Amino acid sequence: MQRTKVKDLLTGAEAGKEILLKGWVRTKRGNKYVTFIAVNDGSTIHSLQVVADAEKFSEEALKDVTTGASVAVTGELVASQGKGQAYEVLANTIEVLGKADPETYPLQKKAHSLEFLREIAHLRFRTNTFGAVFRLRNSLAFAVHKFFNERGFVYMHTPIVTASDAEGAGEMFRVTTLDLDNLPRNEEGKINFEEDFFGRSTNLTVSGQLEGELAAMAFSDIYTFGPTFRAENSNTARHLAEFWMIEPEMAFYDLQDNANLAEEFIKYVIRYAIENNSADIEFLGQRLAEEEKQKPQNERNEMSLLEKLEFVANNSFERITYTEAIDILLNSPAYKKKKFQYEVSWGVDLQSEHERYLVEKHFKKPVIVTNYPKDIKSFYMRLNDDGKTVAAMDILAPGIGEIVGGSQREERLDKLTERMEEMGVPTEELWWYLDTRRFGSCPHAGFGLGFERLVQFVTGMGNIRDVIPFPRTPKNAEF
Ligand code: ATP
Ligand code: MN
Repeated sequence: MQRTKVKDLLTGAEAGKEILLKGWVRTKRGNKYVTFIAVNDGSTIHSLQVVADAEKFSEEALKDVTTGASVAVTGELVASQGKGQAYEVLANTIEVLGKADPETYPLQKKAHSLEFLREIAHLRFRTNTFGAVFRLRNSLAFAVHKFFNERGFVYMHTPIVTASDAEGAGEMFRVTTLDLDNLPRNEEGKINFEEDFFGRSTNLTVSGQLEGELAAMAFSDIYTFGPTFRAENSNTARHLAEFWMIEPEMAFYDLQDNANLAEEFIKYVIRYAIENNSADIEFLGQRLAEEEKQKPQNERNEMSLLEKLEFVANNSFERITYTEAIDILLNSPAYKKKKFQYEVSWGVDLQSEHERYLVEKHFKKPVIVTNYPKDIKSFYMRLNDDGKTVAAMDILAPGIGEIVGGSQREERLDKLTERMEEMGVPTEELWWYLDTRRFGSCPHAGFGLGFERLVQFVTGMGNIRDVIPFPRTPKNAEF
C-alpha cells in the first residue's frame, strides 16, 4: 500500500478507504476500551488521530507506542466522532518503526521554553511551533523564487569564498588552509598568504551584491539568494553570524523603482504565506497572543499575527527621507522625555530604538527611509546632487527594525573612485567592479533583504535564532 501524508488524509478524499499512515507519535491517551494516538508527519501542523480498539490492541501491543516513536499504521479513514478533528483512522495494524525511550526522550507533552528547545535544536523540528516556523520558512523561500521568476529575473549564484573585504572590513570570517600552529611568514614578519590555498587572503562573503551588479550589467535583472556570513559580535535577537540574504540588482532602475520593487516583493511573499500556510499562521498567532498576555497592557500588540500580515500586505508603506526621520525623532515625546539611549542628530546612524519608534509608535506601518548622509553609508551608493546624502533606502518593519537595506548604485566612474579613495576602499583590488563603470555603465539599483528577518516578521518569532534551523551566533555552533 502507498503511504498517504496527513495533509492529504485530512482533506477526506480517502474517507472510507484503507490507508497507510507513517509518522511520529505526538501523544497517546485513552482508557480500557480504546487508545487515541496522535500521529504527525510534518506535512501539516495537524496530527491525525489513530483510534486503537482494545479488542484488537492489547496494552502490551501498544507499549512501545510512546511520544517520539515512529510508526506505520494501516486502517480505515473515517469521519471523526470526536471534537478537534474531521477525520481519524480506525487502526488495523500498528507497527513501531523506531522506539523513543520515554525515560530519555527530551520532548514531553508539556510546553518547553524556546531557550530549552534551542539546546535540542536537532529535535525541536518535532514541536508544533518549529513545525510551523520551518514550513513557513520553506514557503517564503519558494515565494521568493516565484516572485522573481515571474518577473524575468535571473537567479545568480555569487561566490561564498571571496578575496575582497571591501564591504565587511573587520566583520569577516577568514578562510584558510594554512597551518595555524606554523604560519609562513614573509620578510616583514607578516603572514605570507601567497602560500595559502588561493594564493591570497580569503574570507566568507558578507554580501553578493558586488558580483550581482556585474551580472545585472548583462541580464538587466538578477537576484541572489544565498548564505552570507558576518563575524559581528552583536548578541542581539536580530543578528546571526550565518544568515541567508536575497539581493536583487536591476539595471536601469532608480531609487524609486527600487523602493517600489522591494515593497511589492515583501507584500507578495507575505500574501503567498497567508494563502498557503494559514494553519501555521493561525497556530503561531495563538502562540503570540499567549505571549502578549504576559506583557503589560500598554505594550501589547493590538493586532493578531494574521491581522498584522494582512495590514502590511494591503497598505502602502510610508516613505520619508532620513532628514524627515531625524525631525520626527527630535520632535517626539520619546526624545523629549530622554527615552532614547543613543544620540539623535542629523548625521548619526539610526539605531534600532529609533527605527522601532518610527514604525511602531509614529507610523504604525512599514517605513521606507531614503537619502541617508553619505558618511554613514557604503562607498557604492549614488551621491545625490546635494553632495551630502546618497540614494540609499532602508525598509523598517514593525517588531524587527531594518529588514531591507538598498540603494541606487554610483554608476559614474569618477564619482565612484573619488568616494572609494575618500573611504579608503582599495580601487586596485576592485578593478573588476570598476570595469562595469568603464564599459557600458548605466543607472542601476538593488537591495538586500535578510531572509531570517523576513521569516521573523511573518512568524512573529521574537528571536532570530528560532527561525533558522541551526543558528550560528557567537560561541555557538553545536549542531
Ligand atoms: P543592521 O543595522 O540591522 O545590522 P546592516 O545595515 O548591517 O543591518 P545590510 O548590510 O544593509 O544590514 O544587510 C542587508 C540586510 O541583511 C539587512 O537589512 C538585514 O535584513 C540583514 N542582516 C544584516 N545583518 C544581519 C545579521 N547579522 N543577521 C541576520 N540578518 C542580517
Ligand atoms: Mn549590521
